[in-house]
Amino acid sequence: MCGIVGYIGNEKASDVILKGLERLEYRGYDSCGITYYDPKQKTFITNKDRGRVLKLLNSYKYPDDNHFAIGHTRWATHGVANQNNSHPHFSQSQRFVIVHNGVIDNHKELVFKYLNNYEFVSDTDTEVIANLVEEFSHKLSIEEAIRKTISLLEGSFAFLIIDTENIDTLYAVKNKSPLLIGESKNGIVLGSDVLAFINYAESYYLLEDNSFIIIKRNNGDFSFKIMDTIGFELEKPEKHKMDFVTDEIGKAGYEHYMLKEISEQPAVIRKIMSQYMVGNELKVSPKITNMFEGIKKVYILAAGTSYHAGLIGRVYFEEIAKIPAEVFIASEFAYNEPLIEPNSLFVLISQSGETADIRSCLLNVKEHGFKTLTITNVSSSTLAREADNYLNIFAGTEIAVASTKAYVGQIAVLAILANTLSKQHSLDLVSEMSRAAVSMENIIDKRDYISEVVGCSIKSHDCFYIGRGLDYFVCLEAALKLKEITYMNTMGIAAGELKHGTMALIEKDVPVIAIISQEHINNNTRSNLEEAKAREATPLIISLENTSKGNDDIVLMDVHRLLSPLVTVIPAQLIAYYKAVELDYDVDKPRNLAKSATVE
Ligand code: GLU
Repeated sequence: MCGIVGYIGNEKASDVILKGLERLEYRGYDSCGITYYDPKQKTFITNKDRGRVLKLLNSYKYPDDNHFAIGHTRWATHGVANQNNSHPHFSQSQRFVIVHNGVIDNHKELVFKYLNNYEFVSDTDTEVIANLVEEFSHKLSIEEAIRKTISLLEGSFAFLIIDTENIDTLYAVKNKSPLLIGESKNGIVLGSDVLAFINYAESYYLLEDNSFIIIKRNNGDFSFKIMDTIGFELEKPEKHKMDFVTDEIGKAGYEHYMLKEISEQPAVIRKIMSQYMVGNELKVSPKITNMFEGIKKVYILAAGTSYHAGLIGRVYFEEIAKIPAEVFIASEFAYNEPLIEPNSLFVLISQSGETADIRSCLLNVKEHGFKTLTITNVSSSTLAREADNYLNIFAGTEIAVASTKAYVGQIAVLAILANTLSKQHSLDLVSEMSRAAVSMENIIDKRDYISEVVGCSIKSHDCFYIGRGLDYFVCLEAALKLKEITYMNTMGIAAGELKHGTMALIEKDVPVIAIISQEHINNNTRSNLEEAKAREATPLIISLENTSKGNDDIVLMDVHRLLSPLVTVIPAQLIAYYKAVELDYDVDKPRNLAKSATVE
């Protein structure tokens, strides 16, 4: 999933790249690297290694007069995370230097067909691109060589490539993986996310797939042109102003971004309410409701945490809007399509709006003429632009890799959508959501207590969450959170399923955490927990005031039954957080993960 940054301008290029890469680390942090031009030595210098961007910053000196550079932070897809496989990569003769985000599906075939005489020093698919450009540059101009290379590549790629014989030009290509251009009077910066441009660009442009960009320094001026892959110059896309709230990207006194973001959740709910308030009601706009006219079925496609929000969204569509709905994991749907009902609409849920698995589904269902609606945190994202419409979740920048506030934002927006579509407006969402925000606040204020619960009760390497109905869906998310940042072996299970296999794993001191927010299944889930207790598990109960009994461990202020996931997930997020802190793990950047999954 990687993050890439490139810069050509008057600023110290290594600063632009390293600050940008730090902001892109959410995309991957297996290794990182930078190549910059040193005018005194008249050569390009590369520093790269396993580990974090901070290492690049602290372990090397960068001359003040370096003004041309590219950089990379990696989430490995081809080849282990080591120095050899770190980007930037060079072509065989060292003439071309490349950083790449994405996957080249046919890299082996390309080596076989065009690069038999080349020796590769890494296991990456990326090095193939550099060598193809080199191979074709023997007979073609550099521009033509890059275009010919693009025409052969299958897969997803955004890459920046330098011809070391030309210190005034940077080449960039975008197809499927994200790439944006930032601009200021001081220079031009390219990156996988607008976050990389903070402090270095005044405006930015979003790029379409199959764009080939040439950035030039010319007598102290900087310019870029965008072409298609055949070489026709394209009009510049719409220019956006950088209006980033930089406060959002600090830790605001919290020890970790994750805790900050957990604590921001009530504010996210209130922000969503203010954005969707029409008169005295929470509503989506008529252009969205019109899309649902005549729609007989909704298909929700999502991945990871967003999939868990989608499961709750399905209940909202069915219970509130009375529209049948199904939820699919996007990567499953992409290659194993079910029989789709005519008059269906697709809701795509993606926090980043760049999830590659979802995008491939989107392109496919659009081709078949289905209506599409994206729910995302990034209004400038690919999925927001390419679907017929989108709904923003207004969660603000989420930096911790384990998603928290985006999840509750997705659920809140799904509730508003379903409620607007309901013929009866069955929920008084204004008061129910306000109440949910207060209940969330309540438990966040008592977080020290959750930290104690973790210290006393979560002691084994395994942990199980059990629940029924909406609680079960929250259990899936709760288990994912714990797994993501503590590396514990965790599972969310439909409480009634425990006895159909998983009970074999329950032994002394294994925590089994029941979420119970629904009165109609209260006793059933409690009975299932008893069964686990009989196997000497350590039981924990998270309930609402309404459903609580005796000495439940964590009792949350009551909220409407359907909005309970907004609240019950919070102790689970805090349990994951405090356990990871106790284990001294890198809470915000857990191993092997990245936030924006731009590879399939
Ligand atoms: N395929 C490249 C590598 O493994 C880039 C990975 C990515 O963008 O996720 O290094």
